[in-house]
Amino acid sequence: MDEEQGQATSEDSINKVNMRMEYLSLVKLEDIQRHQKMKDQWVGEGERNSAFYHGSLRDINTALMCKWLWRFSNEEGAYWRCKMAEKYKVDYNGWDSKIPYQPFGTGLWKGICTNMKAFKEGLTARIGNGRKVKFWSDQWLGENPLKESFKELYKVSRKQNALVADMMQTDGNGRVLWDLDLPRRLSDQEAREFSQLSFLLETYELNGNEDTRLCRGERNGKFSVKSCYEVIHKGGIPNFTEIGIWDQLIPTKISFFIWLVYHNAAPTQDNLAKRGMVVVNRCYLCCADGETVDHLLLHCSFANEIWTSFLAEFGIRWAFQNQVKEVFEEGISSIFAEHGNYLWRLLPYAICWVLWKERNERYFNDKEKGVDKIIMEIKAQLLYWLGPSKKLGGIRFENLLLDWRRIVCKM
Ligand SMILES: [Zn+2]
Repeated sequence: MDEEQGQATSEDSINKVNMRMEYLSLVKLEDIQRHQKMKDQWVGEGERNSAFYHGSLRDINTALMCKWLWRFSNEEGAYWRCKMAEKYKVDYNGWDSKIPYQPFGTGLWKGICTNMKAFKEGLTARIGNGRKVKFWSDQWLGENPLKESFKELYKVSRKQNALVADMMQTDGNGRVLWDLDLPRRLSDQEAREFSQLSFLLETYELNGNEDTRLCRGERNGKFSVKSCYEVIHKGGIPNFTEIGIWDQLIPTKISFFIWLVYHNAAPTQDNLAKRGMVVVNRCYLCCADGETVDHLLLHCSFANEIWTSFLAEFGIRWAFQNQVKEVFEEGISSIFAEHGNYLWRLLPYAICWVLWKERNERYFNDKEKGVDKIIMEIKAQLLYWLGPSKKLGGIRFENLLLDWRRIVCKM
């Protein structure tokens, strides 16, 4: 027995040694290759300031420093954090260190704190009681701080520095009411922004707990140097102005609808229920499930049939996203012939909009269309958006119906 164990152990240790050698040689090889590549680039470009040589190293360094900022905000009880907090003081939110202003003895931490802006851009907050997050200037609702998304409203707000908690009131039934303390008279633009912001606020779900901080690049919300580096290296998190929701080819009211979809704030029945309306939550397209934005426009069997049919026509097999939001973030690669790319880019907008109209027809007028008619309507919608801009160069509706494949793939 003892002998067997002894043998196993020595074999084990030999394995371990081998694995370690293998690992080390791999690391070494990788290192050599990396250095070679850096050197080649340096020599090739004739200067030390090549993007490879400095850009990526600088971004890795920033990401590593951001990790310290993340640790500062998350390790409240740790000894080192207490010492740092004592020396540099903590910001209003209880998460961040104040940026050192003393001229001496603060070099390292001051250096780390210069990355605060980049660090915060990669974060979002989940609001509980709203006591740690500034309503206008922190990022918590949508993809930018509200003062950037709703500029005009911010200008006239009388509580520009307020915390989220300062803007909330609770009525007798425990429902949260938002009081933004705005002037009585709003201009057209301010009123438009006000209605958009109200939509977002009314569908935001609060819990009574403490506010928490999440990393936007990671699904689990935890910080990782890798994702932080990627965000910095790519130049930030994409936002909806970059992903084309306000495309000039799409009518504004449809852009606005998609914007609501993107923020999970479209007036679907689950969202109406969140706003305190009494509804029987049922999807009118499949009659089988409850209605949420993601169900109605993506997962519903009716919607799914339409997506699948279009993807097949584009010759694409696609792993389905979990959220409609991700469909719009996915980014569109130029893989088709010219007309195909235009059609492909606007397709998600057309599908969502036509499905939404169909849902309303069924909901309010008790009329319904089948999948084939909806597909035709989506193609008509695309032609209507793209036709006048000459992007489709004289292609007619019959062509779209009959020759779709040829139009998409024509080289
Ligand atoms: Zn459904």
